Amino acid sequence: MLKERARYMKTKGAILRNPGEKWKIEEFELGDPVAGEVQVKLVSSGLCHSDHHLRTGDSPAPMPVLGGHEGAGVVTKVGPGVTSLKEGDHVVTAFIPACGVCEPCSRGDQNFCDEGARLLTGLAIADDTHRCTTSDGQGLTQMCLLGTFAPYITVNQASLIKIEDDIPLQTAALLGCGVATGWGSAVEIGGTHAGDVVVVVGIGGVGINAVQGAAAAGARIVAAIDPVPFKLQMAEKLGATHTFPSMEDALPVLGEISWGKMANTTILTVGEIDGS
Ligand SMILES: [Zn+2]
Ligand SMILES: [Zn+2]
Repeated sequence: MLKERARYMKTKGAILRNPGEKWKIEEFELGDPVAGEVQVKLVSSGLCHSDHHLRTGDSPAPMPVLGGHEGAGVVTKVGPGVTSLKEGDHVVTAFIPACGVCEPCSRGDQNFCDEGARLLTGLAIADDTHRCTTSDGQGLTQMCLLGTFAPYITVNQASLIKIEDDIPLQTAALLGCGVATGWGSAVEIGGTHAGDVVVVVGIGGVGINAVQGAAAAGARIVAAIDPVPFKLQMAEKLGATHTFPSMEDALPVLGEISWGKMANTTILTVGEIDGS
């Protein structure tokens, strides 16, 4: 006898109740996909500094919030009207949805998709409700409409990108934020050209991918600045031509090797800036 399909499943995730508190693993209810939505069993999720910004309050979000926005996994359920994904597909999450039909999406600026405004409300694209509910009945914001700090997520198809089955999901998860942000800052927003001088300040998950992007785009000099020796070693492996432990150390050398012109592009990827 067929059982009626459950509308919710119970699962667990890392939830933040208020800024300043700690992430806690809590049980919550995850809704089944409605029109245009997909449920994903996550295999891997990155921890991004933006998740930490929720804790510090530097990045406001409606609380409580299910953290995480950098994930990869396998599609387990597909809601009505989903045509681009099917059960078993491997996917990476996108921290800004791309609906494909709004004005910014239509002109190729998917990073400005109108639906991205929902990152501030946490309400689902499909029906303006929460897809997750805390054990005490509150609507649970999914960070970046995702919330990858959980074994399962239900998200809009606009927030997922299908990848080939043979790409390791643990590695692919990083494409969800750090790689795209860093690479894009050098190649797309920074517009690095062959022969440019590019300086990357702060070699974390985003910065190291800015280094790779600048090198791949043909920069003549890719200078990486970070006080942590290991990060500078990695930067040299992945395309930095020069490394420095501080801005003060970098300044005179950059002046010399750029014939006084300094950087064409400087990419600031430090974790926190206090303005002092
Ligand atoms: Zn991120
Ligand atoms: Zn759009």
